[in-house]
Amino acid sequence: MNLPEPFERLVKVLGRLPAIGRRSAERIAIELVRGERRLLGELLSALGDIQANVRCCSRCGALTTKEEDPCRLCTDPARDGALLCIVEDPGDVIRIESSGGWKGRYHVLAGRISPMHAKGAKEIGVPELAARIQREHIREVVLALDTDVEGDATAAYLADLLRPLRVRVSRIAFGLPAGSGIAYSDPVTLARALEGRRGYDEGGPAEN
Ligand SMILES: [Zn+2]
Repeated sequence: MNLPEPFERLVKVLGRLPAIGRRSAERIAIELVRGERRLLGELLSALGDIQANVRCCSRCGALTTKEEDPCRLCTDPARDGALLCIVEDPGDVIRIESSGGWKGRYHVLAGRISPMHAKGAKEIGVPELAARIQREHIREVVLALDTDVEGDATAAYLADLLRPLRVRVSRIAFGLPAGSGIAYSDPVTLARALEGRRGYDEGGPAEN
């Protein structure tokens, strides 16, 4: 069936979003066409606002606004600036924050090392991370990366890189089943995983 060209275009754009397949994209597009006009207006306004005002923090990569860069997490004096939690997605920062289990700062990588997707250390921003660790005199780095093959490879690479910088490296894994991700963990499990983080080379809990 030939769909109107603008409709087909919208379906294609929606289909490029994560976790939205062709059928979901069609359902959303139909709802926007047929549903209340207010929804379409609100969506347009929210998208415009995001485009104009929402950014990733230039220091840590977490979501922030144009007016607050560096973000509040970076400038909050109550946070321990010598502790750095490394994640692979700005969404992970939101989830870890809602667990209430972290009082340090963050650094968001641009994904993880993945030879299959031609992503190496440079592509995910490791040189910037290493520079930041030295510049800000970081004492401990907690790797909060998913426990799958690419997450493990990225964690191993970072642990090797950071060892000579005299930084304690630990990884959250406690309570997170193998293959699971931060995106699917509830706040209580995440807080426990942070608290029970293990020194990367020691196999035991990190000392404070
Ligand atoms: Zn920040």
